[in-house]
Amino acid sequence: MTETLLRFEDILEFVSAYNPDSDEDLLRRAYVYSAMAHRGQVRVSGEPYLVHPLEVARILAEMHLDEVAIATGLLHDLLEDTWVTEEELEEQFGEHITGLVKALTKITTMEQSYAAREAAQAENVRRMLLASIVDVRVILVKLADRLHNMRTLGYLPENRRKRIAAETMEIYAPIAHRLGMGRIKAELEDLALAYQHPEEHRRLTEQLGQREEVASSMIAEIRGAITQVLEENSIKADVRGRIKHLHSIWTKLRRQGIGLDRVYDFLAFRLIVDTVPHCYAALGLIHQLWRPVPGRIKDYIAMPKPNAYQSLHTSVIGPEGQPFEVQIRTLDMDEIAERGIAAHWLYKEGRELSHDAERVSWLRSLVEGQQENPRDFLNSLKLNLYPEEVYTFTPKGEVFAFARGATPIDFAYHVHTEVGHHCVGARINGKLVPLRTPLQNGDIVEILTSSNQVPSRDWLEIAVSGRAQNKIRGWLNRGEKEQAVEAGRRLLERECRRLGISLKHLREEGKLAQMASDHGFGREEDLAAAVGFGRLSLKDVLAPFARTRATAPVVAPAPGKVRVGAADGSVIMVRGQRDLLTYRAQCCNPLPGDQIVGYVTRGRGVAVHAAQCPNVRKLLFTAEREVEVEWAGVEGAFAVPLNVGFEDRPGMLASISQAANGENANIRSCHLSTNEDRLGTAELVVDVQGREHLEKVLVALRHIPGVTSVETSVTAPGRRLRVL
Ligand code: MN
Repeated sequence: MTETLLRFEDILEFVSAYNPDSDEDLLRRAYVYSAMAHRGQVRVSGEPYLVHPLEVARILAEMHLDEVAIATGLLHDLLEDTWVTEEELEEQFGEHITGLVKALTKITTMEQSYAAREAAQAENVRRMLLASIVDVRVILVKLADRLHNMRTLGYLPENRRKRIAAETMEIYAPIAHRLGMGRIKAELEDLALAYQHPEEHRRLTEQLGQREEVASSMIAEIRGAITQVLEENSIKADVRGRIKHLHSIWTKLRRQGIGLDRVYDFLAFRLIVDTVPHCYAALGLIHQLWRPVPGRIKDYIAMPKPNAYQSLHTSVIGPEGQPFEVQIRTLDMDEIAERGIAAHWLYKEGRELSHDAERVSWLRSLVEGQQENPRDFLNSLKLNLYPEEVYTFTPKGEVFAFARGATPIDFAYHVHTEVGHHCVGARINGKLVPLRTPLQNGDIVEILTSSNQVPSRDWLEIAVSGRAQNKIRGWLNRGEKEQAVEAGRRLLERECRRLGISLKHLREEGKLAQMASDHGFGREEDLAAAVGFGRLSLKDVLAPFARTRATAPVVAPAPGKVRVGAADGSVIMVRGQRDLLTYRAQCCNPLPGDQIVGYVTRGRGVAVHAAQCPNVRKLLFTAEREVEVEWAGVEGAFAVPLNVGFEDRPGMLASISQAANGENANIRSCHLSTNEDRLGTAELVVDVQGREHLEKVLVALRHIPGVTSVETSVTAPGRRLRVL
């Protein structure tokens, strides 16, 4: 306890040095409360748990953040890991800090399935990012939390180390980069490297260690030469030389496929000068000393990176023919390069959170949108956070930065939503190109539009930016609503005709509006949409008028029915809504990965067929009963019947079960029979995860010596039919 108290006093002293006005009382209360709540808890490392929130607080203090952030750091694990309730926390520390802690509290799932864990992870990240848009301190505390967890990751079992290191590389290091927090990003990357590729990390450290002596004498020599030439020209500068951080050397080795002995530019120098003109003057002097490497001169002062990073970069060929990198910037720029968004934290008078909101507006594009599927959300998040950027230009010279792989569609949506919706083509550097052409650094892009053009579903495959994807999805969903309204109206009309009543009269007498409000809708249009989507049955809607003939309703699921998966665990989502009962059609047994179509049945919900199931063509002549469906949360086993033909020989059963096991496919049942010609058949039912998995199992079975045929009743994948 005394030791942790000392650590805390240490932090307090540090905070008051950079922020004399800080609320020491708040920090003390947070410390005492956290110490009380975590009392008796121990980390895997054997240390008292309290060490963790304390170290998180220290990292936040090193970012020079305010007392609210640091207090949140001290309290961040209370709701997740102690008996403290939200109400108690709020009573002690108020609504705001409690809100910050809540955003950092993970929801956990007792379920062990990968899908459940993935869904929980997606939800946690989404909530944390959403809260950060309102108050960026949430994500700063999260980064500090992650940094300390990474520093102590060695105590966890290997599978968890690997998982957390991967998540750090995919989500948190890129977020630190986007926030301009170079120092934390570098440390997160180096730590992750140690756990993701322990062997390579060890070798690299060892090799760098061997070259340390040479490196430090080279650093001293070059540093001396730089200092001298700057002094001669009366430019005051702080010159620092260092070995680049491990992860950036490692990336270079990977990218160029070479060994460390052939990486020469692992040295980097940084010149901190006092004014912008001195930055350029220093660059000129460096280039007079050593020859610059063509194509490596970058002016991020004139063109700052999207994360506000500013600096001049160059690579030059050093005294012994080895290239090295030089960064030149002012002290202010250096602060921003190292600490990013945190650099401004305390200096602004009368700061408002809305200022930060502007600086993190890119967060919004990551979180917003209709990606309800957790995997889609995480994938698009990772893709959009991917730090490799492509810089492109408008014909007027404006710079747009994108993740690698971005296409003219991303560019078009970046210009304006309407430009995106109507984009038909693009000219890159004056040449007409197809929409799926990946953008390259330095491309000048001009978008061609046509008022007749509208977004199509393929665009979701072509666009990579969150913004473009969300806009496209939004447009498509709106389109679906319109289609549903139309289908609903048609259904109502037809049903009315069948019942011998006039829809027109109903509308004129105001009965339609009455019906809408009876079912909780504001407008007739929404009622029609609900019918069109199948959320509301025609029978229910028209019941008050259907005096005479009672017939089975066309659209059957009762309102309010919760979406349920089929009995075998498959879950299929009806696009745009989650409240229809679905089941896999027995005729074609579609699997995740297959193109599918849904067909609204009489009384049984939505039957889901493989798109090329022969029955579908016959069924879909009533186009309004087709609904779009997609796979959702498809973790789970799908039973597939197989017929395996073989030449009878010993060990066949073992070979079959080995082949299935080798692909991790559980055999539910197996029935073997042979005839007098020593030809045999095995009727199997295996559990597979989806189409791809099934294909693997089929290949494995076909490769068994003696197997002559493998058949399945499950239709092969193909193009999706579009009837609507
Ligand atoms: Mn924590």
